[in-house]
Formats: sequence, C-alpha cells, structure tokens
Amino acid sequence: MTRIPDPCVPFVDLAPQWAQVRARVLPELETLFEASAFSLGPWVAELEDALAGYLGVRHAIAVSSGSAALHLAVVAAGIGPGDRVLVPAHSFIGTIWGLLYQGAVPVFCDVEDATGTIDFADAARRLAACEQQGLRVRAIVPVHLYGQAVDIAALLDFAMAHGLEVIEDAAQAIGARWQGRALGSFGAMGCFSFYPAKNLGAAGEGGLVVTDDMAMAARLRALRDHGQRERYVHEEVGYNYRMDAIQALVLSAKLEHLDDWTEQRRALAARYNALLADTPLRLPCTVHGSHVHHLYVVRASARDALRSHLQRHGVQTGLHYPVPLYRQPCLAGIVPAADEGFARSEDWACNGLSLPLFAGMSEGQQDRVIAAIHGFFAGKGR
Ligand SMILES: *Cc1c(COP(=O)(O)O)cnc(C)c1O
Repeated sequence: MTRIPDPCVPFVDLAPQWAQVRARVLPELETLFEASAFSLGPWVAELEDALAGYLGVRHAIAVSSGSAALHLAVVAAGIGPGDRVLVPAHSFIGTIWGLLYQGAVPVFCDVEDATGTIDFADAARRLAACEQQGLRVRAIVPVHLYGQAVDIAALLDFAMAHGLEVIEDAAQAIGARWQGRALGSFGAMGCFSFYPAKNLGAAGEGGLVVTDDMAMAARLRALRDHGQRERYVHEEVGYNYRMDAIQALVLSAKLEHLDDWTEQRRALAARYNALLADTPLRLPCTVHGSHVHHLYVVRASARDALRSHLQRHGVQTGLHYPVPLYRQPCLAGIVPAADEGFARSEDWACNGLSLPLFAGMSEGQQDRVIAAIHGFFAGKGR
C-alpha cells in the first residue's frame, strides 16, 4: 500500500458546512425530538415553502432521495411500459431508475463535447430512428450535469416540436439559472437530490420534485405517501418516499448559506481554470446559463496515470462517471446491445477526472492540487 503524505486533500469535506450550521441545527433538533415530529410535518412543510420560493416555482414536494424524485416524476407523467424516453448516455444511473421501474425504455443520446450534457442534434436523430420503427417517444430527461444547464433554448424548441414531456434531472444543479430562471423550473417537473455531497446536502438522504401544476403537485404528494390523499384511502399504488423531518431541518439551515457556498465554488472553479490553463488538460467551460460547479471535471488523455499520481501526492479525485449508461450490465436485454455513436460520451467517461472542489476548500488545498498536476506534466513522479 502506498502511504498518503499528510495533509491529504480530500475530494469533498463537509465539515466546513457543518461548522456554519451547527449552532442553529443542534437546538432545533432538541425541539424536533421533543415534538416527535419525524416524518413529513412542519419542518418538511417549511423546507418546501423555502425551496419553492428559492427556485421560483409554485409547488415543491420533498421526498426521500433524488432517485425517488425522478421515479415519482416518471409515474406522474404517465410514462409506462414500452414508452421510449430520451436520456443522455453520460450520467449517473439514478437518472434512469424511475424509467426502468415503470417499464419504459431509455433511448440514449450522445452528449456535447464542451459540456457533457445531452446533444439535441443527436437526440433528434435518435427520435427519428424510433419513429421510423413505429416507436413512440414520450419524454426527454435532460440532465444538468456537473451543475451546468443543458442547452435550454434547444431543449424547449425540441420538446415543443415533438410534443415531448420534459422531466429535468437537476440533481447536481440547485441554484443554477438560465436567463434568470432556475434550472428545474423549465420542464413539467424538475428533480433535485440532497445526497450529502450534493451542493445542498442532507445529513442522510433527500430529494425534491418541483412543478407549477397544482393537480400534478397533489398527485405527487399522494404518491410519496402510500398513494393517499385522505388517510387510509389509497387511490392509486403509492410509495413510501416521504422526507424525514431531521433532513428538512438540516436542509433549511443550509439553504440560507447555499448562494454563498455557490459563490465559493465559482471562485474555486475560476481559479482552477486560470492556474491550469498552461497544462494539456481540457478544462470545463460554462456554455449555457450559469454554472454551480457541483463537480469540476477535467479531461486528460492519461487520466488513470494522472489519477494515481495525484493519489500518491495526497490528492483525492473522483470519476463521474466512468461507465456510460448504455454499457451498464443491468440494461442487457432492455436496450439494444453494441449501440454506436457515443464517441463524446466515451470521451467523458474514459478521460474525465473530477478534482477536489467544495465549499470551504482553502486556496492552500487548491494550490496542492494544482502543484501536483503541474508535477505530473513536468514528468516528475510519473
Ligand atoms: C445524485 C444524482 C441522482 C440521484 O440522487 P440520489 O439522491 O442519490 O438518489 C440522480 N441524477 C443525478 C445526475 C445525480 O447526480
């Protein structure tokens, strides 16, 4: 085993966030335990109101995870067995679980070179190919990957032209905007994740679906709570996807700091961009709307060698995501095998490397990452 020199730069450190919210969270936890209000209830309602306001949407429905949010959105959109749904080939698997649970078939599309988000020219080709086979494409699930928008103008035109339902996967993009409007508010529904390492992270699991449609919101509220609007009357097959109150309490406290943390992420990303410009790395760039830098992903042709070099120099990195969705073993028999035309998805999967970036990261920590990268390209320690 290689010894990691001290101090190591972690990929993510959530302790700085905790330091800023603990004075509010700890006494409120006492109150919550004394009230024994653990599932849904006033803390969850308060979070939903705050998030609806923050995102500029009419309804926000808190659930137990981002994957649960996406699943409920698929159910509420009426997507069912055999329905084709356009999705990017390069994303986290959580993007498509809900589709698979409902028996829908993901139709994978290649991504843009610059952003790694869905390429609408490729989506148009895939849609035409489905139609030629007489298959109905019902919806599209664009993913605002790494905290940046897909090409929203193209999305809106494309969805309108083909009558597609839009479910936004904004799990990585809370707070990002396009022409002033929050990502997640453009589709019929938008889905968010509060997994601890996300930009707004719970002390466990959490998620959110947003919509402007009142009837859709009422249905989502019922679906997350065993399909009941009235107690013990289960109008349709439901789920237990409720958010628990402890998560809501922590998330409300953190939401007050989110914009500040996003600014820190932007400053760190800008600093990486400036100080790594003289390397052969392909650096992230902001193309459509604003970027909240959930992940800072560079592309390197010697990705694995660079990653081991950084590990040896005490810098933790991540891979998001090394295996494109269409190559996942669980999809064998569901999507056609040996599919082609995913050159850019393969590029992101094979060459992408996520560098440490988190709210509260110091310039000293960032300097260590940058120095280790320069060392690699100077041929030291290779
Ligand atoms: C995190 C994430 C999800 C799923 O969220 P969970 O809360 O982990 O279930 C879905 N899509 C993307 C792009 C994500 O990053």
